[in-house]
Amino acid sequence: MEAFNTLPGIGKKTAVRLAYHIAVEDGFCGVKLAQAIEDAVETVRKCLNCHNMSEDELCGICADESRDKSKLCIVQSAKDILSIEESGEFAGIYYVVSRLEDMDELHLRHVIEGVFEVIFAFPPSIATDTMILYIEDKLEGSEVIFTKIAQGVPTGVELENIDIMSLSRALEARVRI
Ligand SMILES: [Zn+2]
Repeated sequence: MEAFNTLPGIGKKTAVRLAYHIAVEDGFCGVKLAQAIEDAVETVRKCLNCHNMSEDELCGICADESRDKSKLCIVQSAKDILSIEESGEFAGIYYVVSRLEDMDELHLRHVIEGVFEVIFAFPPSIATDTMILYIEDKLEGSEVIFTKIAQGVPTGVELENIDIMSLSRALEARVRI
């Protein structure tokens, strides 16, 4: 129970329910879960190209030849890639910038070679607006247009908590910045 309770989004009641399930009701499920967790911890790393979660050097999206390499979507977390992929609205490639302090400007410049449009898919806030300005500034001189996702994304809400419809609409109605 204590172990489950340390996970994000799992309160005490849920922790009790989950612990009871794997320890008492379905031990096999517990063993499978333990194995899956161990595998994930051992094998999941960052894609060398976009910093998405990956089991290989390049993630499935970067390795996919059919993706539109002219559109690059910058997100704050690799989790956001999952949400956008689920919307099915975007066929381009991604780049994760979690913190400006960690951003490797030269690497990003290399990644946007051949990119026509850079789309910022950040939840709207003053902090993310600052990030956008900073990144735009760093990429000055490159021949890309900058857009950001539009309405449908409420202030102060993480992308993973936005319903698919709103996220699809926000991507579709992105605005030039
Ligand atoms: Zn990648």
